[in-house]
Amino acid sequence: MKTQLSRRSFTRLAGATAATATFGLSACATMDKPAKANVVVIGGGFGGATAARYVRQFDPDIAVTLVEPNRSFITCPFSNYVLAGFKRMDQITHGYRSHEAAGIKVVHQMATAIDATKKTVTLDNGTVLNYDRLIVAPGIDIRWDSAQGGIQGYNEAAAERVPHAWKPGAQTLLLRRQLEAMPDGGVFILSAPANPFRCPPGPYERVAMVAHYFKQQKPRSKILVLDAKEQFSKQGLFQDGWKAVYGEMIEWVPLSKDGRVTQVVANEMTVVTEFGQRHRAAVINVVPPQMAGKIARDAGLANQTGWCAVDPTTFESSVHKGVHVIGDACIAGAMPKSGFAANSQGKVAALAAVNAINGKPTAAPTYVNTCYSLITPDYGISVADVYRVTPQGIAAAPNAGGVSPRQADAAFRVQEARYTEGWYAAMGKEIWGT
Ligand SMILES: Cc1cc2nc3c(=O)[nH]c(=O)nc-3n(C[C@H](O)[C@H](O)[C@H](O)COP(=O)(O)OP(=O)(O)OC[C@H]3O[C@@H](n4cnc5c(N)ncnc54)[C@H](O)[C@@H]3O)c2cc1C
Repeated sequence: MKTQLSRRSFTRLAGATAATATFGLSACATMDKPAKANVVVIGGGFGGATAARYVRQFDPDIAVTLVEPNRSFITCPFSNYVLAGFKRMDQITHGYRSHEAAGIKVVHQMATAIDATKKTVTLDNGTVLNYDRLIVAPGIDIRWDSAQGGIQGYNEAAAERVPHAWKPGAQTLLLRRQLEAMPDGGVFILSAPANPFRCPPGPYERVAMVAHYFKQQKPRSKILVLDAKEQFSKQGLFQDGWKAVYGEMIEWVPLSKDGRVTQVVANEMTVVTEFGQRHRAAVINVVPPQMAGKIARDAGLANQTGWCAVDPTTFESSVHKGVHVIGDACIAGAMPKSGFAANSQGKVAALAAVNAINGKPTAAPTYVNTCYSLITPDYGISVADVYRVTPQGIAAAPNAGGVSPRQADAAFRVQEARYTEGWYAAMGKEIWGT
């Protein structure tokens, strides 16, 4: 059982992380002399955009190239609020101007190949980049259909009818349009995957946000959550909140009650569960099984689980030396696949890369993660943890962190909802400068 983290001890530990992260900072800041080394970062999301920025801060004599196909980045965090209708896409979209202003070369191309022996990255347009250290942060890919260990019948074509909205952008807007078009009294199904997957509390916050929309616009509607697990993140807090605010609107079916969806029949708007039950709905959202992004898998960085094993102190790949893998794509022990975790790992990998270039050792860091979720725009809940490197890998530190209290008054929940906004604003500013 986790104990609650006092504000003082949390601040102290977060400070310790920051202190670790500034070790190795170079005093030299000239821009005109040739770079002493090249760091290439693949992926401009939570992990990669952080890492690129921090390599540059830790040692301005190192040239940094950030490879990201998109000119702007839409965050998954807060995309559930776009679905609920109280945030807009432009409020969750960030650009790379501040990276360029910091002297980082941003290349809007897809990385198509990594040669860890020659230390090169090939881009979509044929350009070959040389690196001394490579940081790989491509996020997740969906496991399509049974051939990739996904759900039978759930392929890219099916996702146009039955969105996942687990990569934000067009899929988020598609699901929002479907919810808007749904008649009052309709059924919305969300299918949640087994662990591990991107953002453990994400499906359950999404359920609350869809319920929030329904309560205002379509109060006779129902939500059925079909889950491939017995338990989920912040479960007690979510279920208390669902019940208190949305009454009987939400039904959650765990694995043991035949909650695992094994087939999607998109043209019949039907899902089939493990023991053959068929559920039809007006809108279906499948959060499918996932794996590390393609570039990491193609480069041989992922193991048989589909995720990438790394050294817990440096995030250097267990397969290829000189290559760090961070964020959702890597196996980070007890750390969840979250934006906050990817941000934390981005700083640690940046420091490890800089230290390796400068011939310095890297000390074992302390990691932190907090995940906020909303039940309503004025009802927030959270989980916080501190993580340390142990002989078994990254483990949650005992007697640190914890979840919001089950018994709390409305003022406390409002405060956590405000912290949710604060967290997002701070992350956006730190990573993308907006
Ligand atoms: C609905 C939802 C809500 C969430 N809410 C929260 C939250 O409240 N708090 C939280 O901490 N986390 C949250 N998350 C989780 C968070 O979004 C992820 O954990 C985080 O984005 C992981 O960061 P990453 O850098 O690994 O991947 P991403 O942020 O996905 O970034 C990967 C980047 O790599 C790029 N890329 C991929 N392949 C290549 C290639 N070959 N070449 C170049 N670039 C490439 C992609 O274009 C992308 O920009 C949420 C997720 C979801 C789905």
